[in-house]
Amino acid sequence: MVPFDEWLPQQVRCPRTCMRENGSISLNYCMLFLQPEQVRYVMIHELCHARHMNHSRRYWALVARHEPDYRSLDKGLNSAWKQIPAWVGVY
Ligand SMILES: [Zn+2]
Repeated sequence: MVPFDEWLPQQVRCPRTCMRENGSISLNYCMLFLQPEQVRYVMIHELCHARHMNHSRRYWALVARHEPDYRSLDKGLNSAWKQIPAWVGVY
């Protein structure tokens, strides 16, 4: 288990999240509207940044070890904003 100082729900550019160098992870509340497999991928993505604070080959190899279908899931996040209801007021 990786210890993190904070897991903060807040508005980060939808539907992405952000891991900061201080070890905190900001979770975008738009994640509530993602598919479960997308949420899982986002969490894996951010947790792998605990080891690699970049998108290097080693980083993606680590992501692939936990989510072999990461390319498809990552690509799907680009259009995930379509899943967010208009009443949220983000788009
Ligand atoms: Zn990343």
